[in-house]
Amino acid sequence: MRYNIALLKGDGIGPEIVDSAVRVLEKIGQKYGHEFVFTPYLIGGAAIDACGEPLPKETVAGCLASDSVLLGAVGGPKWDTLPGNLRPEKALLGIRAAMELFTNLRPAKLYPALKDECPLRADIVENGFDIMIVRELTGGIYFGERGMREGKWGEEAYDTECYSRMEIERIAKVAFETAMKRGKHVTSIDKANVLESSRLWRKIMHETAERYPDVEYRDMLVDNAAMQLVRNPAQFDVIVTSNMFGDILSDEASQITGSIGMLPSASLGETSRGLYEPIHGSAPDIAGQHKANPIATILSAGMMLLHAFGLSKEHDAIVNAVDAVLNAGYRTADLSHGAPYLTTEEITDKILEQI
Ligand code: NAD
Repeated sequence: MRYNIALLKGDGIGPEIVDSAVRVLEKIGQKYGHEFVFTPYLIGGAAIDACGEPLPKETVAGCLASDSVLLGAVGGPKWDTLPGNLRPEKALLGIRAAMELFTNLRPAKLYPALKDECPLRADIVENGFDIMIVRELTGGIYFGERGMREGKWGEEAYDTECYSRMEIERIAKVAFETAMKRGKHVTSIDKANVLESSRLWRKIMHETAERYPDVEYRDMLVDNAAMQLVRNPAQFDVIVTSNMFGDILSDEASQITGSIGMLPSASLGETSRGLYEPIHGSAPDIAGQHKANPIATILSAGMMLLHAFGLSKEHDAIVNAVDAVLNAGYRTADLSHGAPYLTTEEITDKILEQI
């Protein structure tokens, strides 16, 4: 098969880590008989420097015409003093909106080999954990009606949480389909003891669960979920939740893995295309020093193979190669604690050897 992939390398370490992921995809292509055609487009500070705007029209058109999009990261001190609508980060919201991406998939996996990086007690994370957070991305309180008004005690501000059946049904479907490809267990997180929007959320999750008899399902209140994530993270497989709860819980989950350079993400819409990117930023402090950990971006490319192209064997080959390299004790600078470490290119070579 032939797949057209738009590459948005961006700024800082973006080009280095995307180059590593491209090498891994090329190796996968050779081994499994696929052709990946890569077309780079400008985004972020690099686009501002070249054409005066963070998200040029050609970039949006190129992404919409591609089969999938791989993004490095944008931003850096050079562009920090520009007005808000001209900042590199503005391009991220722009491209997500243009591609109509309503789901954010954020895995939080603790590799047994990296147990010591986890801030939780050793006995809690004895066997590692592997959670996939499915966060609704374009609805809820971040997009609801808001405003300022005069209230009983003077000036007041309000934001409203509103979810439609359509929005909940489509995110529920993503969560259950994702669980079918993993541990077949979904936890839906809400605040149904207080919020009307959560009660509709829960009702529709239950309706959806009936259509997936192979998936074990449970509800959990968000306050309990925040505790359970640090008390026993291994109990979770897929978590599905609203925009604001997902924003908070996905950061909590990523912190307990202890390694920002390892965590991939995917943003998905109605089409299979999607946008795949590491959760970290452009790390300008280490750009050009061959110190960046490319694994988050390599795993993002792996998520692309699974979610955009349905290539599960190929996805597993990448995940297993990363596992093997970590188990063999190889580390990048961010995980080396001052000991000798491999450069971005060297750790990529080790991963290629394992595929
Ligand atoms: P950051 O994630 O770029 O860096 C935080 C720290 O983690 C730094 O010390 C950095 O060196 C380290 N780090 C991050 N990724 C790493 C990797 N792959 N390997 C090794 N070390 C890594 O966050 P920041 O410093 O707050 O932001 C830097 C720039 O990135 C800012 O301009 C910010 O706006 C932007 N940003 C972009 C995105 C994105 O493109 N999606 C996300 C967050 C921040």
